Amino acid sequence: MYDYLIIGSGLFGSVFAHKMTKAGKSCLVLERRDHVGGNVYCEEKEGIHIHKYGAHIFHTSIKEVWDYVNQFVEFNNYVNSPVANYKGELYNLPFNMNTFAKMWGVVTPAEAAAKIAQQRQEAGITEPKNLEEQAISLIGTDIYTKLIKGYTEKQWGRSCTELPAFIIKRLPVRYTFDNNYFNDRYQGIPIGGYNVLIDALLKGIEVRTGVDYNQVRQEYEGLAKTVVYTGPIDEYFDYKLGRLEYRGLRFETERLEEVNHQGVAVMNYTDRKTPYTRSIEHKHFEFGAQPVTYVTKEYPADWQPGKEAYYPVNNERNQKLYCQYAALAAEEKNVIFGGRLAEYKYYDMDDVIASALDMVKKVMAE
Ligand code: FAD
Ligand code: UDP
Repeated sequence: MYDYLIIGSGLFGSVFAHKMTKAGKSCLVLERRDHVGGNVYCEEKEGIHIHKYGAHIFHTSIKEVWDYVNQFVEFNNYVNSPVANYKGELYNLPFNMNTFAKMWGVVTPAEAAAKIAQQRQEAGITEPKNLEEQAISLIGTDIYTKLIKGYTEKQWGRSCTELPAFIIKRLPVRYTFDNNYFNDRYQGIPIGGYNVLIDALLKGIEVRTGVDYNQVRQEYEGLAKTVVYTGPIDEYFDYKLGRLEYRGLRFETERLEEVNHQGVAVMNYTDRKTPYTRSIEHKHFEFGAQPVTYVTKEYPADWQPGKEAYYPVNNERNQKLYCQYAALAAEEKNVIFGGRLAEYKYYDMDDVIASALDMVKKVMAE
């Protein structure tokens, strides 16, 4: 008999397990992949940590979360400064004075702001209703056309007019020469990779990998007082209200006999035709000097049941369906739902950790 049966060893499950174990509770973690860590898992090759499920850069403004993770692992001083490649033209990201200077030859913030205001006015958007309108009203039509439209439509498999505006608000727009992709106070990559963090969180806790809870639920019934479920919420309920949509990904990794292939960790391919969105040269996350390099191309893909669900698609249809599942979840006795898939939220790592820490506080208070 355990206090908690935790389904999924991603950040939500691992943080919850760690905090509860520290509080004297017994936990059993079930994980259907053959390793722990969920999407932050890294594979080491020739001294390079390969982010197996896509590039992960830790960034947060939540001091509690930063202090929490720093108990387990030290972070390096990596700052994410991706480069956008539009048909061979290179632009700095996020959208800042370097981007504007390259795009229009402007020199001052006032010139850049005037150019954007002019394009916004020509487009005639007053209240942005979707991602396209939001993007044009934030940075004008030229940047929307070259750096956003193609990338976004590949990434989400939908037109920008069918996507919610909040997705593009993730990216800063700045009138300074600052290529830092994030506005957060704290940022870095764990020294030794993300597995160091996950292994420290799960130290001494019983974990069974290769077990899909939804396939073997009866076996585990009655084994714990409370279940903590971090998988897809619609799958938990056997899709009885219909399927939520997710966006899938496919990764292709190459080993190259080169010291430095692309000069940056993350290069975004923003045209519609190139079939991948990002090319990741992993060694640059850790300033690696190895004689070889590993480069992963990230291809967006339609999601199908049985495949990893990477991104929730938070449009109106799915949000409505999610709310119906959330109502069922609220009725479920002794089950806690948490994390990116169970809450169907576009969470970053720090959001997930904050959410798990809050859940622990809530449970302890009860
Ligand atoms: P997950 O990591 O998905 O973990 C859930 C775990 O549950 C998985 O291991 C899964 O196998 C397991 N599971 C599911 N169902 C079952 C079942 N039935 N039985 C047993 N086990 C089950 N965030 C950032 O902050 N910075 C970034 O740069 C960043 N980059 C990202 C890039 C990509 C391509 C993606 C997809 C996400 C990125 N994120 C980033 C977000 C980050 O990955 C998530 O916020 C975080 O990892 C989510 O943790 P989680 O525990 O909620 O989910
Ligand atoms: N985006 C874009 N061009 C870029 C980078 C991002 O249009 O070069 C858009 C795209 O819609 C993407 C969103 O901005 O889904 C959020 O980007 P972010 O880098 O935060 O995506 P994630 O790392 O979560 O995949």
